[in-house]
Amino acid sequence: DFLTSVLVQPTPSSSSTSTPEPVANLKRKQPSGEGSTSLNTRFGSFPHTSLLVPAGSQVRSASGAGFIHILRPTPELWTLSLPHRTQVVYTPDSSYILHRLRVRPGSRIIEAGAGSGSFTHASARAVYNGIHEKKSTIQTDGTTTKEGEEATTTDNSGSGSGGITGLTDSQGRVLSFEFHTDRASILRLELRQHGLHQIVTVTHRDVCASGFSLPDPELDIGGNTYATAVFLDLPAPWLAIPHLTRENGSLSQTKAVRICCFSPCLEQALRTIAVLREQGWTEEDLVEVAHKRLEVRRMGPNGREIGAKARSQGDDEIKIASVEDSVSKLKKQLWHRKTKQARQRERLAKRRKLDEDGNEEVQDNDSDIDMDADDDDDEVEEATEAAEEDSGNGRLHLFKQGRVQVRTEPELKTHTSYLVFAVLPLPWTEEDEIAAKSKYTLPP
Ligand code: SAM
Repeated sequence: DFLTSVLVQPTPSSSSTSTPEPVANLKRKQPSGEGSTSLNTRFGSFPHTSLLVPAGSQVRSASGAGFIHILRPTPELWTLSLPHRTQVVYTPDSSYILHRLRVRPGSRIIEAGAGSGSFTHASARAVYNGIHEKKSTIQTDGTTTKEGEEATTTDNSGSGSGGITGLTDSQGRVLSFEFHTDRASILRLELRQHGLHQIVTVTHRDVCASGFSLPDPELDIGGNTYATAVFLDLPAPWLAIPHLTRENGSLSQTKAVRICCFSPCLEQALRTIAVLREQGWTEEDLVEVAHKRLEVRRMGPNGREIGAKARSQGDDEIKIASVEDSVSKLKKQLWHRKTKQARQRERLAKRRKLDEDGNEEVQDNDSDIDMDADDDDDEVEEATEAAEEDSGNGRLHLFKQGRVQVRTEPELKTHTSYLVFAVLPLPWTEEDEIAAKSKYTLPP
């Protein structure tokens, strides 16, 4: 699943399941593919049934012409391949947002709306701290929940309903809200299929009307259990912000809370900032992520990219001749040069003789002859040293070769939006002031 794939290293005892199997074995397992769903690529067709192999395995196409590697699922791969029910948040944005919201293993994050679940998957991995499932958990009412019970609610009234189980103080959790019935239920299904259903709580609710707080039995009070991070990807976040308070239990009682609102236009962003200020949020910050990939290439003197073929085959080195091959090639070239010079000398001598005998005018071709033939031995030696230095084991690193050329991606792939960040600091009470004064002696 998504969590073990990213966070858990295979143990020695389970390593047999993650060791790639020999291609030959996998090929024998492949069915004909007729009648079954296939992945069709330019490298060939891959029946889905042939892909049910351990991650890391190489699978040959039905025709045997190409192959693919089976990768473990990650939030990044899911974002690229998920069924779009809405616009989604892409990885350059989600990684930056989660970083700015200081989401880490054990955090509680509120998300609305859930949409296609792209951000949900990224945050589920960020909050996951290994404390979930496969154990009974003591609830606030003293009862225990069963292993693997689902953490979803179907409340649309704002009053909440039972259903969340297995929460503990230290457990990371994504509290996700979505008011579209089908989107909420499809996301639940996907989260279950991906093994994330005990980390993400999907609540079917209009957060602008009914807010975020979940009834006490659902959240295990008794520690820092409320959200310390909020992500709003809503058309009108300013309507939802007033519902985010410490008093109603949606936000942490003991920690500063960070928020990010994702809005496609500046007017919306400014309206959000105004309401955040009214509600006591501080440190407002407006950011636009303009993610651009830079392609760095090494160009050869012929204007072509060096090692393009090698790289397209996943190789970051190009093969070169061994030192012995280079030296024997140079020696051959030297032999040809010396032979040519000898022939030219012979021709010249013949003409001079003719001139002496017949007074014919002779063109002096000496300038065409390389008279520094003796230096050639030095050249061979220098070339040998250079080849030895470069080649090592007969392969040349691409990064050392040619002129560097940098190109940017022609278009931005992210769904660009304005990100409004803000912080809700802990309130500073009169008691805090007295306690601080008694602790520190302030200068008069
Ligand atoms: N962040 C999501 C992702 O990465 O896949 C995409 C969110 S999509 C742009 C916005 C979602 O907010 C829609 O699915 C919509 O149904 C939901 N939504 C809009 N208003 C809402 C509200 N008042 N309460 C809950 N959800 C709402």
